[in-house]
Amino acid sequence: MKTLTILGATGSIGLSTLDIVERHVDRFRLHALTAHSRVDELAALCLRFRPAVAVVATHEAAERLKTLLSGTTVRVMHGEQALIEVATTPEVDAVMAAIVGGAGLAPTLAAAKAGKDVLLANKESLVMAGALLIDTAKRHGARLLPVDSEHNAIFQCLPHDERGWALTHGVSRLLLTASGGPFRTASAETIAHASPAQAIAHPNWLMGPKISVDSASMMNKGLELIEARWLFDLPAERLDVLVHPQSVVHSLVEFDDGSVLAQLGSPDMRTPIAYAMAYPERIASGSPRLDLARAGALTFEPPDLARFPCLRLAQHALASGSVACIALNAANEVAVAEFLSGRISFGRIAAVIEDTLARPYPSSCDSLEAIVAIDRLSREHARDAICAFAV
Ligand code: NAD
Ligand code: MG
Repeated sequence: MKTLTILGATGSIGLSTLDIVERHVDRFRLHALTAHSRVDELAALCLRFRPAVAVVATHEAAERLKTLLSGTTVRVMHGEQALIEVATTPEVDAVMAAIVGGAGLAPTLAAAKAGKDVLLANKESLVMAGALLIDTAKRHGARLLPVDSEHNAIFQCLPHDERGWALTHGVSRLLLTASGGPFRTASAETIAHASPAQAIAHPNWLMGPKISVDSASMMNKGLELIEARWLFDLPAERLDVLVHPQSVVHSLVEFDDGSVLAQLGSPDMRTPIAYAMAYPERIASGSPRLDLARAGALTFEPPDLARFPCLRLAQHALASGSVACIALNAANEVAVAEFLSGRISFGRIAAVIEDTLARPYPSSCDSLEAIVAIDRLSREHARDAICAFAV
């Protein structure tokens, strides 16, 4: 039996994780489910899955959740400290890190420090704090098992050491595949004025709104390059992006001898989630079998950095260093939230990020406090940039 905490249980990854828990009640037990503000959804999940603890963001939300769960044994907590507590408590073996955005960093890092198996969906943690998170995990005997489908694919194509870290000797290049998103074939003009509804209508994957917008701008692939840099300890020059509209090949590893290994599957996040949950074993995930005859042609093309400037900005941040990556991520979060609430155009997202990256920052970020401070400063810069554009 493995005991799990799911951070971000009401989200797309959280619900897929629960789907797998339900298929394997003999393998997984739930310690805690957490959500930000969707109290009703969390209450329904608690009634169905009966975790020991449920966590929400605020006192008010917790009071409402307590009422909805009265008569059950589920303990209700709230706030960031509660997220850290349910991610680090001794009874937990593995933590699904599926909060979206920078809010996921503190509990993910805490889980690593507590030596847990960290099932890492929250890529923003590695973008903001790659060196710190990897170092903390290694020092405290935690495993970071990638859930992001590309990194999970690469992890599956590589050998691992006895502690579960991927080994990359003999690897010449990692190729991260990208679907190209809903605007793959759209003109720059159409993309610049796309609506939130168009941006979140992903052709292949059903995901939360923020990552859906990131996929449409290809910032998602940029964040994933940074994620790969830290997970596999390879320099930017050996990380490439390949657009593959069918989302069947989830990524590829090229070796020094010219061999290329890839992992394939239906575009269903339950496959990489199940792999991370049961590692090193394999369990049924509920994903539909891949039918290659039906899939027909698998096609590949290079990314277009002119129509998708967010990918170029992420490559630039990766080359510039950790502080730039924090600023990139923070500016993107601010800009995407503004776009989703209709206050800026899709085309402005890249402009806000570019402006934010060009502003001054402290030069080092070797502690969580320093990272959080740079993240805050970058968010202020991004809001300034948005105001400046508006006048
Ligand atoms: P989502 O928006 O569907 O869910 C986000 C979850 O985080 C929800 O449970 C929400 O309540 C919680 N949350 C949001 N803000 C919070 C805050 N401030 N504090 C605490 N909890 C908060 O997102 P998702 O699509 O499930 O993505 C989650 C993470 O996984 C993201 O980092 C994303 O990049 C990554 N990821 C997702 C997919 C996918 O297919 N959805 C694939 C790869 C990686
Ligand atoms: Mg991905």
